[in-house]
Amino acid sequence: MNVVVIGSGVMGPGIAQVFLMGGHRVIMTDIKVEALAEGTKEIRNSLNLMVAKGIIDQDVTALMSNFQTMTSLEEAVKDADLVVEAIPEVISLKQQIYGSLDQFCPKDTVIVSNTSALPLPEIFPNFRPGNFFVAHFMNPPQIIPLVEIVKNDKTNPEKVAWLRAELEKCGKKPIVVNQFVKGFLTNRMQTAMAREGLSLYEKGIISLEDLDIANTACIGFKSAWQGTLETMDYIGLDTCAFAYNVIFPDLCNETTVPSIVTEKVKEGKLGLKTGEGFFKYSEEDAMARQEGLLEQLKLYNTYLNK
Ligand code: NAD
Repeated sequence: MNVVVIGSGVMGPGIAQVFLMGGHRVIMTDIKVEALAEGTKEIRNSLNLMVAKGIIDQDVTALMSNFQTMTSLEEAVKDADLVVEAIPEVISLKQQIYGSLDQFCPKDTVIVSNTSALPLPEIFPNFRPGNFFVAHFMNPPQIIPLVEIVKNDKTNPEKVAWLRAELEKCGKKPIVVNQFVKGFLTNRMQTAMAREGLSLYEKGIISLEDLDIANTACIGFKSAWQGTLETMDYIGLDTCAFAYNVIFPDLCNETTVPSIVTEKVKEGKLGLKTGEGFFKYSEEDAMARQEGLLEQLKLYNTYLNK
């Protein structure tokens, strides 16, 4: 099929790579030529790394021959079967893009937004009703298997089933969220965990270093192999019920952003992109994370992708 990815920033190139690996023709479009050049380089490097690690055995040159970039949206989408919008989270920008897509896309094109937070089909109820919904890829999209497909009142269920099947053929593991909720599923779960951990830190009960060790050495270590409910089954539901009874009333239910986060933001310590957030990062750290995630993807594909 013909896939068009709009936006060549943090997410667009990885999303384009997913569909290239699935054997589709992909056009990536952006208003900035430099962003398209950078995105193309990222895709080629990432494909080469996946070949080197034995994750894919496809010919990178052949895959890249199915890939084009262009700045003209009209030209890019004229034969599109699927459009994935991955431009910044600014409503006026999204509105402008949807106006153009409505004008230039064939009438059956499925159009999805990669938004992390905006209820776009509710904000733009007249934009391609039925064929417009959310498909939320995770960062980095070419590696993390999950995609959250988020339905709205008007979503055509056949289009959801179609997209789900296409994503599965591309090696992804989509789930369906039946209606828009802020944060969808994964960000709600991650946010709940971050709120609790940071609350314990702010009370002086745990250090930042030990907070993250609890994740990599236990919660995440096991979660990579078993879901929340399977974990409960392994514990024993009677034990869970007992523990929840004691712990639930004691959990943090703050509704404001923890002060350590707002302070870091004020100091310009934004995380990897500025070299420091809670911890310090180098280029090598980012590369090591990417390599680690690729090793995890190999394990996932071998043992878990049932
Ligand atoms: P980004 O700012 O890194 O990249 C956006 C790109 O869109 C830029 O290259 C910009 O030049 C381009 N752009 C802006 N206006 C455009 C237009 N009118 N036409 C074409 N291109 C245009 O953004 P991102 O982090 O890749 O996020 C994109 C979307 O994905 C957002 O909705 C975001 O919430 C969501 N998302 C981001 C992440 C993440 O980790 N960054 C994860 C999941 C979802």
